[in-house]
Amino acid sequence: MKTIGLIGGMSWESTLSYYTLLNEGVKAQLGGLHSAKIVLVSVDFAEIEAQQHKGDWQGAAELLARAAQSVEAAGADFVLICTNTMHKVADEVQQAISVPLLHIADAAGQALVGDHIKKVGLLGTRFTMQEAFYRQRLEDKYALQVCVPDSADQQRVHDVIYQELCLGKINDSSRDEYLKIIAALKAAGAQAVILGCTEIALLIGDTELDIPLYDTTNLHVQSALKLSLASDQ
Ligand code: GLU
Repeated sequence: MKTIGLIGGMSWESTLSYYTLLNEGVKAQLGGLHSAKIVLVSVDFAEIEAQQHKGDWQGAAELLARAAQSVEAAGADFVLICTNTMHKVADEVQQAISVPLLHIADAAGQALVGDHIKKVGLLGTRFTMQEAFYRQRLEDKYALQVCVPDSADQQRVHDVIYQELCLGKINDSSRDEYLKIIAALKAAGAQAVILGCTEIALLIGDTELDIPLYDTTNLHVQSALKLSLASDQ
């Protein structure tokens, strides 16, 4: 079993999901008392959030690069950044280490292509929904057509992430709003929706919907399990 390096804490609410899903996955595949080999560096999300919102991506890249070097030095065979948004600095993080970084958008892209999805809705932070680092990877590498909510709905999705989900608050009214936004993406032709923020499944993961949801936390975990357990099969 290979050792999985996690850069977490963004937020810790979703890092908890990674930790649980990785261990459940190893247990399901290897049985008995087996559990995942994990090295985790968990950052202070308040520092990251401040850097994001003042546009200090260079500072955030340096912080995450140091975290990645720590997990590599502690024995990680490969590294996951446990958030979609911070993949904005994925190239800088990869350059700082000599083990592979598993990109979260690749986990989503591969699953969507495998299911023959062509047009997909994307929910996430404003950074993830608006900027090229995420959408363009899906469009260029996986030939997906990516659609996002209108600007008012994008703001609402973003605010719920930072003001509720990253603080562990799960509100029924926010769930209803997300479901309406998903319905609008479906009406715009989306065949599926990417939950492109690692906390969104905490809000709507268990909801029955008439459109498939691609939860990036779970997909990222599945690609890590595949790599970690490749030699144990
Ligand atoms: N975890 C979220 C994501 O997947 C948002 C927190 C962050 O800004 O990193 O994008």
